[in-house]
Amino acid sequence: MVYLTRRENFNGAHRLFNAAWSEEQNVAAFGKCANKNWHGHNFELFVTVKGKPESNTGFVINAHDLSKIVKKEVIEKLDHKNFNVDVPELKNTMPTIENVVMLIWRWIEPHLKDCQLHCIKLTETENIYVEYYGEP
Ligand SMILES: [Zn+2]
Repeated sequence: MVYLTRRENFNGAHRLFNAAWSEEQNVAAFGKCANKNWHGHNFELFVTVKGKPESNTGFVINAHDLSKIVKKEVIEKLDHKNFNVDVPELKNTMPTIENVVMLIWRWIEPHLKDCQLHCIKLTETENIYVEYYGEP
């Protein structure tokens, strides 16, 4: 079994804010991400698939094809968007990287044919990232 990772980038805005809480509680929980006038991040996305190299190509998946899937299913939907208002799937969901990475899995997974999705890694800053392996 070989693991192949494709990296992509996108920019997005969000606000982490629980309407049931006071401003102070939100700032305590979410810090700068609670800023009422939004803010952005330069996200880095790592999509890892696993499989056996196919005998004719030696590829687990053609990395160019994987890139096309990620661009169509993820980047076009999130890049330069405000996650709180522009992404219907995130409506009524706190747009944390935890929730976004699970959504990205649901968008990509149905489009892989000869390999399996193994991990989605999403970095929000150089010091914070999440990894999702498709577990509930
Ligand atoms: Zn943020």
